[in-house]
Amino acid sequence: MTLERESVRHTLAIRQLTVSSVTYPAPSIARITVSGDELEGFISSGPADHVKVFFPDPKTGVLTAPAMTAEGLKRPGKGKVISRDYTPLGFRSHDGHHELDIDFVVHGDEGPASAWASKAAAGDAIVVAGPRGSKLLPQGATHVILIADETALPAVSRWIDMLPPSVQITALFDVADDSVESYFSAEHKARMSAEWFYRHDGLGQLDAALRAMGEIGETTFVFMAGEATTLVPLRRYLRRELGLPKHQVAADGYWRRGVTDADHHAPIDPADPED
Ligand SMILES: Cc1cc2nc3c(=O)[nH]c(=O)nc-3n(C[C@H](O)[C@H](O)[C@H](O)COP(=O)(O)OP(=O)(O)OC[C@H]3O[C@@H](n4cnc5c(N)ncnc54)[C@H](O)[C@@H]3O)c2cc1C
Repeated sequence: MTLERESVRHTLAIRQLTVSSVTYPAPSIARITVSGDELEGFISSGPADHVKVFFPDPKTGVLTAPAMTAEGLKRPGKGKVISRDYTPLGFRSHDGHHELDIDFVVHGDEGPASAWASKAAAGDAIVVAGPRGSKLLPQGATHVILIADETALPAVSRWIDMLPPSVQITALFDVADDSVESYFSAEHKARMSAEWFYRHDGLGQLDAALRAMGEIGETTFVFMAGEATTLVPLRRYLRRELGLPKHQVAADGYWRRGVTDADHHAPIDPADPED
């Protein structure tokens, strides 16, 4: 069957790491590189993989995370752990030194992840768990459409890096303003046909752009991720109006406006859960 995506499981590891550098590929996105011996054996083989990052309590500064012990996974008491999901953007190993890049959208101090990322500095401690598994590239895709807000730009980078050159890539971006366009390298920009939409220009631009693409062929795969409610009309159009089958569309609500620690396993459209 075309567009099938194999799922692979990885051994769960919980890694105590240290921030080694912080850069800004765009003014609202902090690229935090973490390193440490415990990254040995890190595997992430799917374009939309995620890790769980554990943060210190903003009030006490205490970082609480589960730990792998000889007896198995040791979970701290309920309510003590603060974690959020992030995309493992890039992993490098050389001469026994391991580094992982994670890009954090910095959106104020309300959320513990954003608050931590905005102040992170070399030497800070952080804990990263996973990925527990990976969904590999869709088999037989000739065209991939990527729809993303700032939180899913790392996933888009990974799709671009992993897709073979024969696959056409079209991208639609929904971002705050044009300052975000500096996020991609010249190589990434050259690899995709991209349209950028700025939220201050109003709602519905992604929907209009998707509709303007017309029919979507059966070897085209659509990945969309970002604010959950923004994805609802796009998913409805693809699945209900165009009638694309489930295996052709992956829609992941990476966050939900007004909701703390939103559950991305919950349906993005509770009125029309995935069938
Ligand atoms: C599979 C997966 C991969 C992800 N990859 C990334 C990634 O690589 N980089 C990344 O930055 N995010 C990524 N996210 C999204 C990230 O986990 C959420 O944005 C998370 O809620 C941030 O936690 P927080 O502590 O900052 O805010 P929370 O405590 O969860 O929320 C506090 C408030 O901030 C709002 N909020 C949350 N995120 C944003 C945002 N981005 N912009 C504006 N307001 C927001 C919430 O609606 C809420 O009102 C990913 C999510 C998933 C499920």
